[in-house]
Amino acid sequence: MLKSNALVSLVGAGPGDPDLLTLKAYRLIQQADVIVYDRLVSEEIRELIPHGVKKIYVGKASGKHHMNQDEINELLVKLAKKDRKIVRLKGGDPFIFGRGSEEASYLVKHNIDFEYVPGITAASACSAYAGIPLTHRGVASSVRLITGHCRADKPLDLNWKSLADKDTTLVFYMGLASLAQLREQLIEAGLSADTPAAAVENGTKHSQRRCLSTLDQLPTDVLDMSINSPALIIIGNVVNFAEELDWFSTATDVLEEGIDVKNRQYTADA
Ligand code: SAH
Repeated sequence: MLKSNALVSLVGAGPGDPDLLTLKAYRLIQQADVIVYDRLVSEEIRELIPHGVKKIYVGKASGKHHMNQDEINELLVKLAKKDRKIVRLKGGDPFIFGRGSEEASYLVKHNIDFEYVPGITAASACSAYAGIPLTHRGVASSVRLITGHCRADKPLDLNWKSLADKDTTLVFYMGLASLAQLREQLIEAGLSADTPAAAVENGTKHSQRRCLSTLDQLPTDVLDMSINSPALIIIGNVVNFAEELDWFSTATDVLEEGIDVKNRQYTADA
């Protein structure tokens, strides 16, 4: 097989706030010939793509796939035949519930070079912007990142006993639709119904909303607040810090030094 001289960069875009892009991600975006991106790449980040760079949307919304994974893999291979610098931009970190490793394997099989640029995953960023530390001395000594995604007709197949640990912070990605099941199974496995729990919608964006509750009440409160995707579910005693450490939603729009924390302006040539 003839080796292509293309390089596919699998790049994490973080959860939304463009300030959370790595410098490497930013540089690759500026230098790309073509950028293949999906739904979780925020509009502010898309605005950083220079004019003239080809942009291909392959977004997936739960249930209604725009392009399926095989088609995305094929697209990358096809692009590698004519473009040199291909950026595959994904929300958060491509290797955390992002199928980045599937794309990387496919490229390797087709003898196409790739590089990997980690991004800030939703667990780190949404918890931080919600004022929730994932660990805290004496409160939580470990963290689990878990997928809450399940097929519509199948129950979630998780080891509930191992998850029901009061010293562990549980972070569920794609957990909104299965919230009632999470609540039921975790309580049944022995986690206290009073365990603090939160949902963070649109984490790190201007539109971020937090729903602070308990394991027992979270499904109801999430419905009451009409929390929508993308939302991250955090369960554990660390959620108790959310009021005290709420720096983001209370961030005054313009701080004394003149730094507007939430409304920084970005331009492609900044
Ligand atoms: N690779 C991504 C995760 C993709 S799975 C990462 O590392 O972050 C998609 C899930 O991530 C969503 O269902 C949601 O649970 C979570 N998520 C991603 N961005 C988010 C955001 N800005 N706010 C809240 N949750 C987010």
